Amino acid sequence: MTQILGVVGDPISHSLSPQMQTAAIDRAGLDATYLSFHIKKEQLSAFIKEVRDNNYLGFNVTIPHKQNILDYLDDMAPEALAIGAVNTVHHSRNHLIGYNTDATGYMLSLKEEKRWRAKGKTVTLLGAGGAARAVAYSLLKAGAAQIYVYDKIVIKSNELAKNMNNLFMKSQRTDVIDWLDLKDCLAETHLLVNATPVGMGGTSFDSLVLDALADTALVSDLVYTPRETPLLRDARKIGLSTHEGLGMLLYQGVEAFKIWFGKDPDVNVMRKTLEDAL
Ligand code: NAP
Repeated sequence: MTQILGVVGDPISHSLSPQMQTAAIDRAGLDATYLSFHIKKEQLSAFIKEVRDNNYLGFNVTIPHKQNILDYLDDMAPEALAIGAVNTVHHSRNHLIGYNTDATGYMLSLKEEKRWRAKGKTVTLLGAGGAARAVAYSLLKAGAAQIYVYDKIVIKSNELAKNMNNLFMKSQRTDVIDWLDLKDCLAETHLLVNATPVGMGGTSFDSLVLDALADTALVSDLVYTPRETPLLRDARKIGLSTHEGLGMLLYQGVEAFKIWFGKDPDVNVMRKTLEDAL
């Protein structure tokens, strides 16, 4: 019987997961179909019933349901629990189990594409939303020593810092900064990450000066439309190494595929599908 998977969100038409996962499923010769589900918050409960009644194999979760979905799960993987957000659900033995493959996807992308290692490093993180939490958690878990976090809503930065400082050792600090501190923090930063929506459609930060970064710093953007955001373009222009958001999108999908099917997908086919779509 054909296994059913998909991605649930609102809106959903922008999602590239159907194309990417369908390419991987076809390449692996699996009898499965990956659909797109436009579901509003008040429809989530009915959607979950459909998943259970029709024995769907699982689904991805995107904006705005990565936290809403927690109410409907039977179990969660430890990293999803720590991050407080789920982007992948596996329906196994009548149980809905939540995972956060954004976190593993981000680290895999840094490792595979940039050979970057977090151990002992200092990171400046712009944004303190769901994606930022996944990135902070994965960097600290991989041994980052210091994270500076800035969000225009200071309550969100405070929450992220409190959460991470509770989860990790005292030698691994997460501290909240304001925009005026940024220049000083950048001087000691090994990795600058944009986890805000700034950059989408070519938008840029007002007065973000990258000159304070060391020549060896890496600049990473989670935004992937456009692939080279103004932040990455500015970093490249002054000779800094850059890391684009496409890799996180790719590897979160790779990890989700492994959870559902218990085997590795063809990463090159998935990457090519994304590159063609973007
Ligand atoms: P989110 O929950 O809305 O968090 C974004 C945070 O950034 C919000 O707190 C937002 O504040 C804040 N912010 C917006 N503009 C800012 C600015 N100029 N300076 C500082 N903070 C600012 O969104 P998310 O789910 O974390 O996603 C963030 C970005 O990452 C999105 O663009 C998303 O597409 C991207 N993403 C990429 C991947 C990937 O696979 N590459 C995966 C996940 C997310 P307000 O709420 O007040 O605007």
